[in-house]
Amino acid sequence: MAIDEFRAVLKAREFVRKVNPATIPVPIEMYARELGAVIRPQTDLGPDEAGYCFKNNGKHFICTNANDKPERQRFTVCHEIAHIVLGLPSQHGASPWWSYAKKPLAEILCDVFAAELLLPYDLFQPQAEKSSISLAAIDDLAERFQASATATGSRYAAVVSTPLAFVLSEQGKVRYASRSNQLKDAYAWIPPRLDLPDGCFSKKVRSGAACDSPEEVDAGIWFSDWERGGILLEEARHLAPWDQTLTLLWFEDGEVPPQKFRDDRGEIHEKEDDDNDGLLQELDGKLRWPGKRRRR
Ligand SMILES: [Zn+2]
Repeated sequence: MAIDEFRAVLKAREFVRKVNPATIPVPIEMYARELGAVIRPQTDLGPDEAGYCFKNNGKHFICTNANDKPERQRFTVCHEIAHIVLGLPSQHGASPWWSYAKKPLAEILCDVFAAELLLPYDLFQPQAEKSSISLAAIDDLAERFQASATATGSRYAAVVSTPLAFVLSEQGKVRYASRSNQLKDAYAWIPPRLDLPDGCFSKKVRSGAACDSPEEVDAGIWFSDWERGGILLEEARHLAPWDQTLTLLWFEDGEVPPQKFRDDRGEIHEKEDDDNDGLLQELDGKLRWPGKRRRR
């Protein structure tokens, strides 16, 4: 069966359960040991090459770029473990490791798998839940788990209970949006390939505006076909060397505005949310079984 996001996440969680890490940051050597793999930092890789793995005499060797920062090398090890466990051949070289613009699906799935290993649900969720909502808090989590701000931000959005989204854009276009379950249940959808919306704070920050504090924006500019209204707080950071923008979006009062509908007489009422089970549209969301029938 072809590997999709859901299966990649399932496989990652299965692997994490086997190793059962208990400390923060997670000792990734334990993951390598589970596969009998040897980690080998290499000094001769180019700046855009993160690593690779190969098999020799039945043993896996995972090579990382010794010139990369330690947290990057940790991610590389977990990414290569994903290639081994998921049986997905490498498609490196198409674009630099940091770029999302043309990343092949198999590589995205390996990144998702890697984030699950670096930020295991059982260790990460309680820490994320009690953090304040800000990019600085995500930085702090990233530092403690020795993971990148990007990986930590998308995991953060996926596991917290408040309605919140973390968006990664490159060259002014959304490449990846991770949403908490509350937003998924409300169908607050941020389409990939969307240009950073007009009027959003992230667009201004990309153009050089300072981001000292979050800015209020209409929820409708970010979510497609959004009829609930409401005001989001938006915080943004632009990473100029890669032309990447990180965005954190959340409803300040912690509530998604209720759905509204108009009755036969034209009066507007609030509608109760369906008890629904959205498909796993994010790459690293909390697991839900796809295809489960909606209860009426
Ligand atoms: Zn890869």
